[in-house]
Amino acid sequence: MRRVYLDNNATTPVLPEVLAAMHPYFGEHFGNASSIHHHGQDTRAAVERARDSVATLLACRPAEVVFTSGGTEADNLAIFGLVQSGDHLITSAIEHHAVLNSCKHLEEKGIELTYLPVDGRGLVDPDDLRRALRSNTKLVTIMMANNETGVLQPVTEFGKICTDADVYFHTDAVQAASKVPIRVKDIGCDLLSISGHKLHAPQGVGALYVRKGTTLEPLLFGGRHERSRRAGTENVPGIVGLGKAAELAVTAFANGDDRERTALRDRLETTILESVESAGVNGEGAPRVPNTSNIYFDYIEGEAMVITFDLKGLAVSTGAACSSGAIEPSHVLTAMGLPGDRARASIRFSLGKQNTDEDVDFAIQLVPKMVARLRELSPLYNKSTAVNS
Ligand code: PLP
Repeated sequence: MRRVYLDNNATTPVLPEVLAAMHPYFGEHFGNASSIHHHGQDTRAAVERARDSVATLLACRPAEVVFTSGGTEADNLAIFGLVQSGDHLITSAIEHHAVLNSCKHLEEKGIELTYLPVDGRGLVDPDDLRRALRSNTKLVTIMMANNETGVLQPVTEFGKICTDADVYFHTDAVQAASKVPIRVKDIGCDLLSISGHKLHAPQGVGALYVRKGTTLEPLLFGGRHERSRRAGTENVPGIVGLGKAAELAVTAFANGDDRERTALRDRLETTILESVESAGVNGEGAPRVPNTSNIYFDYIEGEAMVITFDLKGLAVSTGAACSSGAIEPSHVLTAMGLPGDRARASIRFSLGKQNTDEDVDFAIQLVPKMVARLRELSPLYNKSTAVNS
């Protein structure tokens, strides 16, 4: 059975070049990067080469890159590393739970927390940020690209506002890295998170950009790894993989590969919308990363679509979370003002570097057929009242 994977915002396959780069570090080059003998120097050099590659991807200094176990740890390090008792913290309503639950935890401990709303396109208004600043605001954390909709925030404006107000700015760029060019100095952020497995490196590795001069309280205590910012023996194969994926991403931008992916995504989206009534794009009208399309198909449940598509070989996802047995509509889509039913009727298609024209053909043949079948079974669906919206 043919299987097409369009859930690359959940995780991406490790590219063959990345796997090949990592392979020697599981066997031949096994040293602890802190050891001073030949074996250690060997892996130290590999870690530092990877740091250079990540620094090139983010347009920062190598010394400003801290390797972590992934995006969640990078987000936690940025937030818990800076915010202290008495501080005010600003975030947005549509963050990934790695940020949202970190902020919530601090709020429970007495930190003042402001959630900025988003408009119908999923965008935070820079004026809302300006208005939310207080004399004790320590940190603003707003994501660069949303994992569910792909909507890109005006982070450069946020960076400028924070710089002017002398407030730290962290952006979760886990879903932006390798999809859009990132130059940390242009954004004006102090901290920026990325995750390996969203850009065709392995799961369990990530990095936090920490602007020179920014002092973070570490999350982990132990040895003086990563300039005392992240204790623990380095995950050398993972870091090498992240470095290689960063290199490939830089080359792909230079070759204009992102335009190809945008064209694939646009064909997927346009064709589906042309052939399915009562469907639309969540985040339409906002700038988006090239690989993501979040579409609502009124009258049917996202979960039912995910399962039905999967049985036919197509992997996609919903942003919905299952809590205590009930399917909760996505916090991102509800923050954008979607009614619960429409939020529950939404699914995310997300493309990766491995996806081809044929994969998109497969999806655009399957989706309208399956949506029609599910709607026939849906008590909510009445063909005579369905309208294009
Ligand atoms: N931030 C965003 C926007 C994400 O999409 C994810 C993962 O889905 C994370 C953070 C967490 O990254 P990781 O899975 O590497 O911990």
